[in-house]
Amino acid sequence: MIFVFRRRRRKKKALTAEQAAEVERLRAEAKAALPPRLAQLAALHGFTYNKVRIKHNSSNWGSCSELGNINLNLNLMRLPEHLRDFVMLHELCHLRYLNHGPEFHALLESFCPGHRALARELKTYRLL
Ligand SMILES: [Zn+2]
Repeated sequence: MIFVFRRRRRKKKALTAEQAAEVERLRAEAKAALPPRLAQLAALHGFTYNKVRIKHNSSNWGSCSELGNINLNLNLMRLPEHLRDFVMLHELCHLRYLNHGPEFHALLESFCPGHRALARELKTYRLL
């Protein structure tokens, strides 16, 4: 399993009731919005994936497995649209290259110009 944007593991803190409610709100939004957008981006760029799941974790924005399954973090709903698309395109490119080598970056750059600057911008956001 390849994870993107892995962060230092922090001690898991219990969510407050308010945060837990926010997570459930984001989950519902994510389930409605992210799978159709992923399908759209995949069709646009000629990718075929297996399953997409919405997850909540504090270690990555998304992941892609060698079986072609894509996981997307419900926290993507807290990002501006261009960063949400960037993460989804990043995961789609892993369907072709399960690494972060030069070919992977060249492919991602072709769909998502300036993707390295987007990666820096993404780092300014925290996972809830
Ligand atoms: Zn990656």
